[in-house]
Amino acid sequence: MKTCVDLLIENVGRLLPGHEEALMGVSVAVDAGQIQAIGPAEKLAGLFDGSQTLDGTGKLLTAGFVDSHTHLVFGGERSGEFVQRCAGADYEHIASKGGGIRASVRMTRAADLQQLVDSARPRLQRMMESGSTTIEIKSGYGLDLENELKMLRAIRQLSEEFPIEIVATFMGAHEIPDEWRQDRAEYIRIICQQMIPQVAREGLAEFCDVFCERGVFDTQESIQILQAGLENGLKPKIHADELAASGGSLVAAQVGAISADHLMEVTTEGIEALKSAGVVPTLLPGTTFYLRKSGYAPARSLIDAGLEIAIATDRNPGSCTIESMLFIAGLSVMHMGLTPTEAIIAATRGGSHALGRGPLCGTIEAGKRADLILWDVPDEEVLIHEFANQVPRIVCAAGRIVFDSHIASIERSDLTSDQGV
Ligand SMILES: [Zn+2]
Repeated sequence: MKTCVDLLIENVGRLLPGHEEALMGVSVAVDAGQIQAIGPAEKLAGLFDGSQTLDGTGKLLTAGFVDSHTHLVFGGERSGEFVQRCAGADYEHIASKGGGIRASVRMTRAADLQQLVDSARPRLQRMMESGSTTIEIKSGYGLDLENELKMLRAIRQLSEEFPIEIVATFMGAHEIPDEWRQDRAEYIRIICQQMIPQVAREGLAEFCDVFCERGVFDTQESIQILQAGLENGLKPKIHADELAASGGSLVAAQVGAISADHLMEVTTEGIEALKSAGVVPTLLPGTTFYLRKSGYAPARSLIDAGLEIAIATDRNPGSCTIESMLFIAGLSVMHMGLTPTEAIIAATRGGSHALGRGPLCGTIEAGKRADLILWDVPDEEVLIHEFANQVPRIVCAAGRIVFDSHIASIERSDLTSDQGV
């Protein structure tokens, strides 16, 4: 007697990550939101009946992408800055004129909760359709108690609406708001004594993040804020060594951060500190690309030092609008020297570690959540080569098909015939 399961993905050509060594012709049985079994197609065909089946012949099956670093909830938009940058202005110059994060703060404060949710929804939808099944979202464009809470509530509402996992991070320490420029110590006191305790009381965030950088928060301030987070049960993350070697990696190691993100300017000493403290280096090549810089993070040095890296989109209103983790994986291969296999692993298993979800998702293994992407290509080399073009054939989140490219095509062709073309 065969066991009935929700979904049977049959005769897949290649699985990643989890069974890189597997031969052709593997099937995956999914039930109750989890991967139940993986094994030779013939064997599983004798054991399971799928309520729904998918033919994986000649196709690549990867784990769902884990995008561990985004700022995708925000008010307004900043395309004007992009055009200025392309005409030669640099980010620091634009920021000094009131642009950059501070412009998004003004527009986010002006938006109400529903406007924030409504504007973020299509971005999140596209990200899900491009294969991201776990997405971290940070606050940090409110920069006062009321507006930081509004952002986190918007993130919570999105997480209730979407069938994928959303992870919230409090980032009141994204920038010093204009009204506290003359008294930054007081703003840090508000973060530590008002914002963090309130966010924790309402259970609105799992992580606390800080922008440790020259002109933003220095190392001592970063430690103070991340310690306040820890005391309230928020696990530390940090924006580290992005524009300069500011000591962010050392802070990450000192406070036991789960990840240190950006790292374009990380030093050898910083790499050693990350390694000894077990911090996950999270690289965001989309931002380097989007800001038209050439100094990508030293991914090879990090990997060669024995660290498992994550890559993420850093989707935000200004310095990177890329939403596709596949595009980021492509940039990682082109500009950071990753192999296609390493890039897919960094986008899946690496991201799960950067969010403390290694046991839950990020690989294709029995017992893990059934977050899966079926691709219409035979392997990751072909996939990465086509990184700007490929869309998933199927995206499955916790065992549920949330995107099917064939259904999307049918809708488009219906539209065409309605118009009598
Ligand atoms: Zn960021």
